Amino acid sequence: MLSRNQTASVASNQQCDTYAWFSQRAWVEVDLDALSHNVQQFKQLLSPSTQLMAVVKADAYGHGAVIVAQTALQSGASWLGVATVPEAIQLREAGIQAPILILGAAYTPEQIYAIAHWKLQPTLCSPKQAFIFSNILETINYGSPVAVHIKLDTGMSRLGTNWEEAAEFVQLVARLPHLTIASIYSHLATADSPDPEIMEEQHKRFKIAIAQVKKTGIKIPSLHLANSAATLADSQLHYDMVRVGLGVYGLSPAPHLKHKIHLKPVLQVKARVTQVKTIAAGTGVSYGHQFIADQEMRLAVVGIGYADGVPRNLSNKMQVLLRGQRVPQIGTITMDQLMLDISNIPDIQEGEIVTLLGDQAKEQITADDWAEQLNTISWEILCGFKHRLPRVGVV
Ligand SMILES: *Cc1c(COP(=O)(O)O)cnc(C)c1O
Repeated sequence: MLSRNQTASVASNQQCDTYAWFSQRAWVEVDLDALSHNVQQFKQLLSPSTQLMAVVKADAYGHGAVIVAQTALQSGASWLGVATVPEAIQLREAGIQAPILILGAAYTPEQIYAIAHWKLQPTLCSPKQAFIFSNILETINYGSPVAVHIKLDTGMSRLGTNWEEAAEFVQLVARLPHLTIASIYSHLATADSPDPEIMEEQHKRFKIAIAQVKKTGIKIPSLHLANSAATLADSQLHYDMVRVGLGVYGLSPAPHLKHKIHLKPVLQVKARVTQVKTIAAGTGVSYGHQFIADQEMRLAVVGIGYADGVPRNLSNKMQVLLRGQRVPQIGTITMDQLMLDISNIPDIQEGEIVTLLGDQAKEQITADDWAEQLNTISWEILCGFKHRLPRVGVV
């Protein structure tokens, strides 16, 4: 872990070679206190019997899956959600023993062997997948049954058996050897919308499906439906567990839900000034000379670019933080570097730290700001940072 103070003493950090960190031109800082705070805030919204799954797919939305999973589990989460089998194995190899639900579809023989071996919990979406699972587990003569989760499609039109066939599907799975049903769940398409109509229709379908399953007499230990937005929108959607991704990372899924909880952004993106120079009026900057200096100006080169995940479409539009002030980025963002206009801040030195996302003094730039400029969502911004940027846990 590293202190927030850049020059503070450095303790051991399994996530990051400290020498590498000090020599880095650019990195992602993961604020583990903020993460812990966010998990606790969500826990406080839940009744004591409702569990919290920290969704750590896509390398924990770009934050680093292992460090996030460990911190979330220490802070009140009791389940982890991932998209793929390799994502789950990474957590098991790091020694994490908490239950892990694979939210994506996984049903090749190799995936099924790994699920059994690593005690992972798959999602079953169709009778065919259920048969394949059961058959493969039969051939490997695997001792204890694999806990499976039944996914219903209640209106997302993504993974899941049609909600009207829930009872039939559950009966089929219940009859198959080597499987045991751990939960029934569904996913909401519009939980972040201020208009609850579609969400309520999905919830209605979920309730009908569950009632029909109940009539079969098959006991289902757990039901879950809510992502971050639904968790904040309506406590009736909490059921036995909520599956929280974005909120754990400290961003609100929608402006109208922001007041429901106090969250702190976890991720900061930082890079160093690698060169400072003065350019004359009329000088072009970067590829294509998309920026021309209209007067003599001071320019800083920063060691981060689109190959690190800074979207090239932010060229000439974005600002960064330097010495606690907002500074405009100028010219086209290149693969490994970008340029700043530092004319308004005297005496900037090579090696100084620039914050692209995060806060300095009273200024803050969030993934929501970038998302708005790029006409996308904060989820995509967070997932966009590449592995060339080391993830550094700070407390
Ligand atoms: C990604 C995902 C979530 C988490 O969604 P957030 O909006 O980030 O909270 C929950 N459930 C499923 C099935 C998902 O795929």
